[in-house]
Amino acid sequence: MNIGILGLGLIGGSLGYDLRSQGHHVLGVSRRESTCQTAVALGSVDEASVEMSLLGIADVIFVCTPIALIVPQVEQLIKHLNAATIITDVGSVKAPIVQAISPLWSRFVGGHPMAGTADSGIEAAQKNLFVDRPYVLTPDANTPKDAIAILEEIVRSLGAKIYHCQPEQHDRAVSWISHLPVMVSASLITACMGETDPEVLQLAQNLASSGFRDTSRVGGGNPELGVMMARYNRQALLSSLQQYRHNINKFINLIEQEDWTTLEAKLQSTQQARPLFTD
Ligand code: NAP
Repeated sequence: MNIGILGLGLIGGSLGYDLRSQGHHVLGVSRRESTCQTAVALGSVDEASVEMSLLGIADVIFVCTPIALIVPQVEQLIKHLNAATIITDVGSVKAPIVQAISPLWSRFVGGHPMAGTADSGIEAAQKNLFVDRPYVLTPDANTPKDAIAILEEIVRSLGAKIYHCQPEQHDRAVSWISHLPVMVSASLITACMGETDPEVLQLAQNLASSGFRDTSRVGGGNPELGVMMARYNRQALLSSLQQYRHNINKFINLIEQEDWTTLEAKLQSTQQARPLFTD
């Protein structure tokens, strides 16, 4: 199959490696000529260009640009395609993308591979990035069944585990497990930095160990990604944050009231619930 990748960065480049190893002919388009040359030299794609017309012969196209560019890029892309081409995207938020692209292209299937690293760009691309990782697809009732089946076969060949859901359900779910944790973790770091005694602050920084490393990791990540989550998943994130604030208030009340029995019961239930998300 001829498979196109628009946006040769971490996700696009990683897809390229695996799709080539499955025997597909991979055509890459990226913004910078130097990225195109690197992608070919590294073996992530067979051919690459800064011109979208290269993707005219693709049977399936993965749009892997930064999230803000996915819809505008598809608007430009479709004039180069024949009507049978399947388009999918890898954006980390689904509802706004699916709502904008579905009316433009009937053979569009929203997607989100739940895989990545803290790095970006073509040099960060890795082989087998998607193995044993969830890969969400968000077709609707009008999405052609054959387009879904073809895409599923490709995603399965990456070693990923496929999940289907509505775009809005996806956005609520990732708000809980990805976007809310970034804001909570960022708030934790901000609160700690608010310690007014410089000696205590310095001591806390010296004493911080694995617990703080775990809970602060995602709040110390790429600021652009955090803003992207808030901008594109605003409603779901606000609703998760409000629910979180409600829970923080409950903990404050229990501690103010010295209600250690209820606090322990709560912590027992969170101890039991955590593996439901992590195992
Ligand atoms: P990335 O490493 O920064 O790659 C994006 C690439 O898009 C850049 O390398 C850039 O290539 C290219 N690009 C930028 N503007 C372009 C344009 N106008 N036309 C064509 N190409 C353009 O980012 P990423 O982490 O792969 O993320 C890409 C998408 O994957 C995002 O939508 C994100 O939501 C989604 N996603 C990310 C992760 C993750 O953990 N990182 C996980 C799942 C999904 P040049 O070098 O040519 O400028």
